[in-house]
Amino acid sequence: MAAIPLRYYPAKVLRTVAAPVKASRAAEFRQLFFDMAETMAGANGIGLAAPQVGTLKRVIVVSTSDGPLGLLNPEIADASTRWDSGEEGCLSIPGVFGLVKRAHQVKIKALSIDGEPLDFSASGLFARVLQHEIDHLNGILFIDRMHKLTSGADRLRELWRAGTAL
Ligand code: ZN
Repeated sequence: MAAIPLRYYPAKVLRTVAAPVKASRAAEFRQLFFDMAETMAGANGIGLAAPQVGTLKRVIVVSTSDGPLGLLNPEIADASTRWDSGEEGCLSIPGVFGLVKRAHQVKIKALSIDGEPLDFSASGLFARVLQHEIDHLNGILFIDRMHKLTSGADRLRELWRAGTAL
Protein backbone atom coordinates (compact mmCIF):
# COMPACT_ATOMS: atom_id res chain seq x y z
CA MET A 1 0.00 0.00 0.00
CA ALA A 2 1.15 3.50 -0.67
CA ALA A 3 -0.34 6.91 -0.16
CA ILE A 4 -1.00 8.82 -3.38
CA PRO A 5 -0.37 12.58 -3.71
CA LEU A 6 -3.60 14.56 -3.36
CA ARG A 7 -4.82 16.95 -6.04
CA TYR A 8 -5.84 20.37 -4.84
CA TYR A 9 -8.47 22.87 -5.89
CA PRO A 10 -8.65 24.29 -8.55
CA ALA A 11 -7.08 21.28 -10.39
CA LYS A 12 -9.06 20.43 -13.51
CA VAL A 13 -9.28 16.74 -12.53
CA LEU A 14 -11.56 17.82 -9.65
CA ARG A 15 -13.96 19.39 -12.15
CA THR A 16 -14.19 16.42 -14.52
CA VAL A 17 -16.92 13.74 -14.46
CA ALA A 18 -15.40 10.34 -13.58
CA ALA A 19 -16.07 7.21 -15.67
CA PRO A 20 -17.94 4.13 -14.35
CA VAL A 21 -16.13 0.92 -13.49
CA LYS A 22 -17.26 -2.40 -15.03
CA ALA A 23 -18.26 -4.96 -12.38
CA SER A 24 -16.19 -7.61 -14.20
CA ARG A 25 -13.12 -5.39 -13.80
CA ALA A 26 -13.58 -4.59 -10.10
CA ALA A 27 -10.42 -6.51 -9.18
CA GLU A 28 -8.35 -3.97 -11.10
CA PHE A 29 -9.42 -1.31 -8.59
CA ARG A 30 -8.52 -3.23 -5.44
CA GLN A 31 -5.04 -1.69 -5.23
CA LEU A 32 -6.47 1.78 -5.84
CA PHE A 33 -8.90 1.18 -2.96
CA PHE A 34 -6.08 0.19 -0.56
CA ASP A 35 -3.96 3.15 -1.65
CA MET A 36 -6.89 5.57 -1.32
CA ALA A 37 -7.69 4.20 2.16
CA GLU A 38 -4.07 4.81 3.19
CA THR A 39 -4.09 8.29 1.65
CA MET A 40 -7.32 9.14 3.49
CA ALA A 41 -6.02 7.85 6.83
CA GLY A 42 -2.69 9.65 6.40
CA ALA A 43 -4.50 12.94 5.80
CA ASN A 44 -6.97 12.39 8.68
CA GLY A 45 -9.87 12.35 6.23
CA ILE A 46 -13.19 10.53 6.54
CA GLY A 47 -13.83 10.15 2.82
CA LEU A 48 -11.93 10.28 -0.46
CA ALA A 49 -12.92 10.09 -4.12
CA ALA A 50 -10.63 8.81 -6.90
CA PRO A 51 -10.45 12.18 -8.76
CA GLN A 52 -8.78 13.59 -5.63
CA VAL A 53 -5.82 11.29 -6.33
CA GLY A 54 -5.93 11.98 -10.06
CA THR A 55 -7.94 8.94 -11.22
CA LEU A 56 -11.12 9.71 -13.16
CA LYS A 57 -12.98 6.53 -12.16
CA ARG A 58 -16.12 6.22 -10.03
CA VAL A 59 -14.41 4.90 -6.90
CA ILE A 60 -14.80 6.28 -3.38
CA VAL A 61 -13.60 5.33 0.09
CA VAL A 62 -15.53 6.25 3.22
CA SER A 63 -14.37 5.76 6.78
CA THR A 64 -16.70 3.60 8.94
CA SER A 65 -16.46 2.07 12.41
CA ASP A 66 -15.61 -1.22 10.64
CA GLY A 67 -12.75 0.37 8.70
CA PRO A 68 -12.57 1.91 5.24
CA LEU A 69 -15.51 1.10 2.96
CA GLY A 70 -14.73 1.09 -0.77
CA LEU A 71 -17.54 1.62 -3.27
CA LEU A 72 -17.56 1.46 -7.07
CA ASN A 73 -20.14 3.42 -9.08
CA PRO A 74 -21.97 4.71 -5.98
CA GLU A 75 -25.20 6.55 -6.67
CA ILE A 76 -27.98 8.09 -4.62
CA ALA A 77 -31.08 6.02 -5.38
CA ASP A 78 -33.28 8.00 -3.01
CA ALA A 79 -32.91 10.88 -0.55
CA SER A 80 -35.03 12.08 2.36
CA THR A 81 -36.73 15.45 2.03
CA ARG A 82 -35.40 16.23 5.51
CA TRP A 83 -31.99 17.87 5.32
CA ASP A 84 -29.34 18.89 7.79
CA SER A 85 -26.93 21.79 7.61
CA GLY A 86 -23.43 20.79 8.71
CA GLU A 87 -19.85 21.94 8.41
CA GLU A 88 -17.73 20.35 5.70
CA GLY A 89 -14.13 20.52 4.61
CA CYS A 90 -12.29 18.69 1.86
CA LEU A 91 -8.80 17.18 1.62
CA SER A 92 -8.50 18.89 -1.79
CA ILE A 93 -9.39 22.31 -0.36
CA PRO A 94 -7.30 22.37 2.83
CA GLY A 95 -8.07 24.99 5.45
CA VAL A 96 -11.47 25.89 4.02
CA PHE A 97 -14.71 25.04 5.85
CA GLY A 98 -18.33 25.87 5.20
CA LEU A 99 -21.90 24.91 5.97
CA VAL A 100 -23.61 22.64 3.46
CA LYS A 101 -27.19 21.36 3.40
CA ARG A 102 -27.39 17.62 2.73
CA ALA A 103 -30.18 15.07 2.80
CA HIS A 104 -30.42 13.54 6.29
CA GLN A 105 -30.87 10.06 4.87
CA VAL A 106 -29.94 8.52 1.52
CA LYS A 107 -30.34 5.15 -0.16
CA ILE A 108 -27.16 4.17 -1.93
CA LYS A 109 -26.70 1.73 -4.78
CA ALA A 110 -23.13 0.73 -5.60
CA LEU A 111 -20.82 -2.17 -6.26
CA SER A 112 -18.64 -3.46 -3.47
CA ILE A 113 -14.91 -3.48 -3.96
CA ASP A 114 -15.40 -7.13 -5.06
CA GLY A 115 -17.87 -6.08 -7.76
CA GLU A 116 -20.98 -7.32 -5.90
CA PRO A 117 -24.15 -5.16 -5.95
CA LEU A 118 -24.79 -3.26 -2.73
CA ASP A 119 -27.91 -1.45 -1.59
CA PHE A 120 -28.00 0.32 1.79
CA SER A 121 -29.32 3.30 3.70
CA ALA A 122 -27.17 5.87 5.45
CA SER A 123 -28.01 8.80 7.68
CA GLY A 124 -26.33 11.66 9.52
CA LEU A 125 -22.59 12.09 9.06
CA PHE A 126 -22.26 8.85 7.05
CA ALA A 127 -24.91 10.13 4.60
CA ARG A 128 -23.16 13.52 4.42
CA VAL A 129 -19.78 11.98 3.59
CA LEU A 130 -21.32 9.74 0.91
CA GLN A 131 -23.07 12.73 -0.72
CA HIS A 132 -19.83 14.76 -0.62
CA GLU A 133 -17.80 11.94 -2.21
CA ILE A 134 -20.42 11.14 -4.88
CA ASP A 135 -20.41 14.85 -5.77
CA HIS A 136 -16.64 14.55 -6.42
CA LEU A 137 -17.36 11.89 -9.08
CA ASN A 138 -19.47 14.49 -10.88
CA GLY A 139 -16.93 17.31 -10.61
CA ILE A 140 -18.88 19.05 -7.83
CA LEU A 141 -17.11 20.45 -4.75
CA PHE A 142 -18.62 21.37 -1.38
CA ILE A 143 -17.77 25.03 -1.99
CA ASP A 144 -20.31 24.95 -4.85
CA ARG A 145 -23.04 23.94 -2.41
CA MET A 146 -22.09 25.75 0.80
CA HIS A 147 -24.44 28.42 2.02
CA LYS A 148 -21.95 29.89 4.46
CA LEU A 149 -18.15 29.93 4.52
CA THR A 150 -17.13 29.34 8.16
CA SER A 151 -13.37 29.68 7.77
CA GLY A 152 -10.63 29.95 5.16
CA ALA A 153 -11.74 32.79 2.85
CA ASP A 154 -8.11 33.92 2.43
CA ARG A 155 -6.97 30.33 1.94
CA LEU A 156 -9.57 29.80 -0.78
CA ARG A 157 -8.27 32.84 -2.68
CA GLU A 158 -4.63 31.67 -2.24
CA LEU A 159 -5.45 28.20 -3.62
CA TRP A 160 -7.26 29.72 -6.55
CA ARG A 161 -4.33 32.01 -7.36
CA ALA A 162 -1.74 29.21 -6.95
CA GLY A 163 -3.76 26.91 -9.20
CA THR A 164 -4.50 29.40 -11.93
CA ALA A 165 -0.86 30.52 -12.01
CA LEU A 166 0.29 27.00 -13.02
ZN1 ZN B 1 -13.88 16.45 -0.81
